Amino acid sequence: MDLIDAHVHLYPIAVNRDPVGWATEHGEAHWAQLCTRKRKDGAPVQAFPTMAQLLFDLNAAGIRRAVLMGWYWERHATCVEHNRFYASCLQAYPTRFAAFATVHPDAGQKALDEIRRAKDAGFCGIGELSPHSQHVPLDEPVWHRILELAAELDMPVNLHVTDPASRPYPGRVDTPLADFIAMAKDFPKTNFILAHWGGGLAWAEAAAGLRNVWFDTAASPLLYGPEVWKKGPIGRVLFGSDYPLMLYPKTGAGHGFADLLAEAKAAGADDSIFRVNAATLLGIE
Ligand SMILES: [Zn+2]
Repeated sequence: MDLIDAHVHLYPIAVNRDPVGWATEHGEAHWAQLCTRKRKDGAPVQAFPTMAQLLFDLNAAGIRRAVLMGWYWERHATCVEHNRFYASCLQAYPTRFAAFATVHPDAGQKALDEIRRAKDAGFCGIGELSPHSQHVPLDEPVWHRILELAAELDMPVNLHVTDPASRPYPGRVDTPLADFIAMAKDFPKTNFILAHWGGGLAWAEAAAGLRNVWFDTAASPLLYGPEVWKKGPIGRVLFGSDYPLMLYPKTGAGHGFADLLAEAKAAGADDSIFRVNAATLLGIE
């Protein structure tokens, strides 16, 4: 099978070795809160696999390619470090990975330069960004420049979206859904991938008909029941896991690639969701 997982996170060895210590040292408290926390039963929300482990897990699940997503870091230096790491992954396995570059808008021109550098290194998108978490208001001109450059370089922008109806968890950030609709309308030449089913926008009237908006399914089992696979607009949905997040904490299925694929297939997800939409949008066939 030639499946594409359009939403995977991977970190350099320095992060994996001591995620909490690394985050403290690098001023990335919000990431630490989201990614190094433990559930009530004491189990970590995610593991910190190496590139080799990711490849092993992809092979076991029959996933051909993983799209490596950056993170909405709080510091420009971290964005650069993460982008360099993904560039090395791309270089090592150009047919197994694709990558999205991350930036912090506070860096201004440096953020724009970083996007151009990433494009030259073979990155195919920008994200996962979260304007609401990165503390730069959406009406700041720097966002406009980033979104316009994304359109110019044909790099879709993946944005983290929180469903307003979702239950609270430590580090949860409110992301008003109307902001994403406004963004898509204000930047019609920029393609957006709204993560996590767009926080419900995938099946909302407000987003219907927006030609520059796609959705990914990252973390779906933690947020929604299997019925959502039937609800999204099929031509606009990209299969994504949010690996290495533990998707099925109650069953102990680990990162849960196999269970997620089974859930999606049982609900009728087809080749367009598993491969075609991502391949077409990202140009990575
Ligand atoms: Zn993610």
